[in-house]
Amino acid sequence: MKNEKEITEEMQLVTAQMIKDDIEENPDIVNEFFECDCCGADKCLAGSVEYNGYRLCNDCVLIAEISFALKKITDIQELIDLYEDKNLAGLCQYIKQEESRENN
Ligand SMILES: [Zn+2]
Repeated sequence: MKNEKEITEEMQLVTAQMIKDDIEENPDIVNEFFECDCCGADKCLAGSVEYNGYRLCNDCVLIAEISFALKKITDIQELIDLYEDKNLAGLCQYIKQEESRENN
């Protein structure tokens, strides 16, 4: 059984690979943007994934995949709702830690 930190690290590799694969398949994708259905930001199409009709940017895909893996959510709608409530911080504590470490 993997712990939360291991799952986070594994998913970071998986989602980073998704961006590389998308760019390899279609180099022009780096200039294509869309509005993420989860965070609402303008994000690059590379590495984005569609779940049940919602297109998520690569950052949100990472959060979604970790949340699914840890069974914190069972449906993408739950993640969208959590995002609206600005309640994501507790979901992905390890991502936050990674970011703060990089900023130091
Ligand atoms: Zn997003």
